[in-house]
Parts: sequence; C-alpha cells; structure tokens
Amino acid sequence: MSVSICGGIVAERKHGLPASETDVTLTGEDWGGRDISGQSHTRVKFVDLDLTEATNTGAIFTECTFRRARFNCSAHTDAAFVNCTFAACSFFDARFTDCKFVGSMFDRCSFDMTRIVGGNWSFVGLRGADLHSASMSGVRLREADLTGVRCQAASLRDVDMSGAALHGADFTDCNYGYANTRTAPGHATLLTGAYTSGHGIMANEWWDPQKKAMVAAVDDDEMKLVGIAGNAPGASPHYLLADTLGDELKLATQGKSRVFGIAFKDRAAVIPAGFAGNGAYWIDRPTGTWITSTYYRSELPRWAQDFNDSKRADKYLNREWQNSSGNVLRTTKPTDGKPGNFYELVGSTPFANDYEFEFARELITNEKLGNGPATDLLIISLSANDILGHKVGPDSLEMQAMALATDRQLAGFFEFLGHQIGLANVWIALSADHGIAPLPKVAAALHLPAANAPGDKMRAQVNSALSVRFSRPAEYLKGLDYPVAWLNSDAFGALKMKEEAAERAVGEAMKQAGLRAYYTRSQLERGDAPNTELGLKYLNSYSPLGGWYVLGVPEPFTVGFVGGTDHATPYTYDTHVPLAFYGLPFQPGTYRTHAEPVDLAVTLASLLGINAPTHAVGRVLTEILAPPRRTGNSPSAAPDRNLPSVEGQDFKPTAPESIAPDPDPVIAGGSR
Ligand SMILES: [Zn+2]
Repeated sequence: MSVSICGGIVAERKHGLPASETDVTLTGEDWGGRDISGQSHTRVKFVDLDLTEATNTGAIFTECTFRRARFNCSAHTDAAFVNCTFAACSFFDARFTDCKFVGSMFDRCSFDMTRIVGGNWSFVGLRGADLHSASMSGVRLREADLTGVRCQAASLRDVDMSGAALHGADFTDCNYGYANTRTAPGHATLLTGAYTSGHGIMANEWWDPQKKAMVAAVDDDEMKLVGIAGNAPGASPHYLLADTLGDELKLATQGKSRVFGIAFKDRAAVIPAGFAGNGAYWIDRPTGTWITSTYYRSELPRWAQDFNDSKRADKYLNREWQNSSGNVLRTTKPTDGKPGNFYELVGSTPFANDYEFEFARELITNEKLGNGPATDLLIISLSANDILGHKVGPDSLEMQAMALATDRQLAGFFEFLGHQIGLANVWIALSADHGIAPLPKVAAALHLPAANAPGDKMRAQVNSALSVRFSRPAEYLKGLDYPVAWLNSDAFGALKMKEEAAERAVGEAMKQAGLRAYYTRSQLERGDAPNTELGLKYLNSYSPLGGWYVLGVPEPFTVGFVGGTDHATPYTYDTHVPLAFYGLPFQPGTYRTHAEPVDLAVTLASLLGINAPTHAVGRVLTEILAPPRRTGNSPSAAPDRNLPSVEGQDFKPTAPESIAPDPDPVIAGGSR
C-alpha cells in the first residue's frame, strides 16, 4: 500500500515564469532616501530602481516588475507588493513590517540581513532563495514555493508554512532488492542502507544454533522490559551486523543528536533506533502500555509514565471505526469473557496510528526534539497498516479507508511539526518495510494461480518426507516461516550429513511440498547464485545468523498464511513500497527512476554531510536534490561538476555551497 500526502494545494508558481505584462517601463529612477508612502503603481516595470534608505507606509504595487532594484536599508510598513516579480534585486538590511507579498515571485534576489515581521507572504515563489541571514517572524507563508530555500532554524519564528514545501519528491518505482520482505529486515534495510547480506537481519524470527531455540530479531535475554510489571526479557539491536543512519548521526555529533524509534512492534522501534539510539518505545500487546528496554534506560521517563498513567489506551477500546459513509468497518470492543488484546483490536484500525502519533507528539515535546544543538532523528513505524493488511488484504475497502485515514493523520502530524519545530527545519522521508500480496481468494477470483500454503503444514510435510527418506524419524526442521526453513543440525549430524547436503535434502523436500526452487545457506555464502535479478535478490538475503537454513522460492501469489495474506517473497507485490521525501532540499515531483529503500539512509547521510552507515549500498538520489542557487552578491566561482543539472532552468549554479539547512529530520515509515 502506498500513502499520499495531502499538503493542500500548492501554488503552481514555476521558477522563471514570465512576469506579468507591464504597461510602463521606468528606468534608472532614484528614489533613494525618499518617503514613498501612499503611492500606488500598477503594471509598471522598474529597471535599476534605487530605493536605498527609502521609507514607505502603505504604498501599493500591483503586478509590477522590479529588475535589479536596490531596496537596501529601506523600511516598509503595511505596504503591498501583490503579484509582483523581483528579479536580481537586493534587499540588504531592508525591513518589511506587516506587508503583503501574496503571489509575488523572487528570482536571483539577495536577502542579506533582511527582516520580515508579520504580514502575508502566502503563495510567494522563493525557489532557491538564500535566507540564511534573513529573519522572519509571525509571517504567513502558506503554500509558498520554498523549494531549495536556504535558511537557519533560528531565523524562522512562528511562521505559518501550511502547504508550503510539502510538495515532495515521490518515487513510483521503489522496490526492495532482496527476498526477505519482512518487518525486521525491512526496518534494518531502511536505516542501514544495506540488505540482509550487510545488516544480518534475515527474518522476524530465526533459529539460533547456540541457544538451540527460535529467537526474535530484537530479543535480548540480558535485558529486561521497562514500563510493565514482571521480569520479561527485554530487547536490543544486538543481532544487527551494521550500524544505522542514527548511529552515524550520533558519531558525527559526538552524541549530541538524539535518536528515537516508535512503533507498535518492538522490532520496528528497536532496529531503526540503532545501537546508539536514545530510546525505542513500543506497546505491551495485551494492554497498549508503552514500554521500552533496560538497553535504553532503567525506568520510563516521567512523560512516558504520565502518558501511560493517563489511561489514554483505554479511550481507543470499545470504539467503532466508521468509513466516510458512516458504515462501521470494525469495532475495538473486546470479546466478552476474553482478555483484552489491544494490539489486535486497536492495531487493526486507524485508532492505532492516532495512538502512536499521540505518543510521538509527547516525545517530541518532552524530549525537545528539533531544539537541540544538533540534528535529531525520529523514526515512526505505523504498524496498524500491516496488522490490518494481513487480515483483509490490500484491495479491501478497509485498507482503502485505512490509507485515507493515514493520509489525514500524517497531515495532522506534519501540522504539529510545523508549529513545534517549523517545517523549514524538518525533513520527512516516507517509506515502508515491505508490501503485501493480494488475498489469495481475491487473486484466484481473477484466475491468477494463488493459494494459501500454511508454513506449519509444509514443515510437517518436510519432516515426514525426510524421516522416510533417511529411514529415521526426526524433527529435521526446527522452524519454517514460509518460505524459509531452519534446520536441526543435530538431527542431520546423527546421519553424519554435512551442512550442504542437509540443506539440499531439505530444499528438495520443500520443492516436493510446493515451492518453486530454493537457495541453501552454504550456496549463498559462496556467492553462488545465477547472475539474474532474482539470483541477486537471494544473494542480498544471505545472513551468517540462523545456523543452517534454506530460502525457498515461492510460487507467485502463494502466501504462507491461512485466513489472510502475507509478504516475504521476492515479487513486486512484496518489494514495491512508497519512497518520498519532503523538505526544503528536495525538488518536488514524481520520479520514475529506479530507487530502492537502501537509498533512503544514503541520501539523508549525504545531505547531512556525514558518513553513510557502515554497510550501506544505496545511492544518493541526486535527481531530487534542489540545485544550489546563486545569490545576488555571491562571488563567482567555477561551477561544481557534481551539481545536478536541471533542464529548463534559466540559471547556472556558480557557488558550490551547501543547499541544505541544518535540519531536524523526521522519518515517518509506514510499517508492515
Ligand atoms: Zn506483516
């Protein structure tokens, strides 16, 4: 499922559009030091106008063009410059108080020390403007085109930027390049910029040959859960074999950056927060209580404890989820006599995302994210979209309603970020940890060869087939999470079988039980796979964890799940995910170039000027980066060959300067 963002209608003002028609041209006028209060000009073209040290109260300029005008040290109050065009103008130390600039466009202007207080600058085009020494406070900048604007956090105060800059860069062809399309590997991939062959996370659970048990991706016996009574084992990212974007941010800032993960599922909160994360929070499944692990801290912070004490989870129980026509889609009423299961009941509705965003707001406010000395990182995984998706499939009315609800919830959350931090200071990246197959019965109704193939049944089939083949009954498989099987090396050891032979025997039995093909661990370790797209996906799925195992290649549209649908295949329905970026450095648009989730961390690391994570293999998505802009007084320098070239733009970048503000990026990841 993909998610689109409603940012309101953004002014379709394109850089370089011709200015309004003008009736009169005035060249070389000198209004320096004059008081121009009360003047009114319509459709006048001013060339080389000098307004240095002019004063102005209430003058009105409508559809005028200013070419190379000097507004230096001028002061304007309650003036209007509506639908005007400013080309190569200088606003050095100019002051605009409660002025109206609605619909005006600025092209190659300089704004050194410009001060803007109050007023309405909605729908202005400020593409690529260098505002880093300008200041704005209390200004309406609704639906302004601020792409590529350079500014500093401190220079924008109380600025209403709704609809501005939220025209994101949206990749329509983002696919995972591996076969392990599950939650834990997906989150590891997004934040490490590597596949399983780099980060090691092969599944949500796997066989641990030392412990001789199936272990979950973030289970850690050395730790304890924090936030609920009891002594349950805690969680940590100890199985991760690569570091994350957050870890690199921590390294680059000597720990000054703060990094947090939030999700309904432990693995979706812990893995993204990396080794150096300040905190990861997820819910206790029966009650919805927010918990963490002693890996991060020994007790919940005060704000999180208060959140739990306020019983906010309860308000999401016993509720009806209705679609826009008022039909009840699901209820969160616990079944009579059964213990409540918050995760299943609330987790299958958009209320779960409301609950997560409520917690995220508390975290941002109380941990003061975006207000510290360095860039902070927050990763939010919206688990409900996955929990419901498994039950009803991606084509259901419920998932449609869930997508619409997610859209609104994201819009509300971004508005909160706008007020709390200022959207000029935030980067947002949106993606998902995997896709999902259509419900087999939905695909089968269209005559696609779809089926449910329960993993438990296949495991029993393989065990009994091997028991017959080797004339020795044994539990040859310790686990089978369709289509991956983990072997009992002791059972094969008793037959004096080596790993490779054992894995082949299991693979052949899995084929008998309905899989199309298989790759053994030993084969992948040697890098032995055909030089095809599919072969590469399996090489990328190799992990040194998990003992002896076999990765089965499933038939398309066959899911290892009864009563719903699943993911975990190398096919497009599981690999295809959204990938979108929002924020000032990103050129809005729909991008149909090849992209992969491994590109996310690498692109953000590049913009932050830090190392990419240790095992990253993604590329910097240069096509979405706004080019640096020349400002009126920037020294001319040789063009930087590495700058992205943008067709149809009427300027040449001259200064290879950074285009990125120091942002406080927030990653909102859709979860499956
Ligand atoms: Zn799932």
